[in-house]
Amino acid sequence: MDLDATESGSAQSLQSGKDQLLPIKGCATPNYQRRMGLIFEMRQCAFVMCDEEFSVSNERKIFCSDRCRGRHHALINGEEAEMIRIENNMIIANYRILKAQRVGRVFRRTELRLLGYDLEYCSRYTINRAAGDTVTLWCYDLGLKVSETGYQLVSA
Ligand SMILES: [Zn+2]
Repeated sequence: MDLDATESGSAQSLQSGKDQLLPIKGCATPNYQRRMGLIFEMRQCAFVMCDEEFSVSNERKIFCSDRCRGRHHALINGEEAEMIRIENNMIIANYRILKAQRVGRVFRRTELRLLGYDLEYCSRYTINRAAGDTVTLWCYDLGLKVSETGYQLVSA
């Protein structure tokens, strides 16, 4: 997303701060995994456009996901078309997730993540100055209106 200097501050700040790790029933917690020696360290993803940290279970792993590995190689190999294709697919994947949800529903950040939604990807964003600078992150005609209570699904 290419934001101009004045707007990027607000959009970026929405995405700063790490989510709390959710205790998911049936899943080993990070602490348990660490005790069991399943987590060796936390590492920053090597893809320059990703700020994810991931737990390293394999010393040679440097990307948080296959997706980031693909994006990294596309970028360094100058495969612009491939890079664009991957980025577009991320927006389309986000759109499909929104499309399956009820308009008006409010999501927490962690809920979106569990659905596979990636907040870094949208087709555009709007800032409603009249409504206290409310930001909406759009995937085409569906958007997530950001507020303190969460992300509300809205339709254009
Ligand atoms: Zn990554």
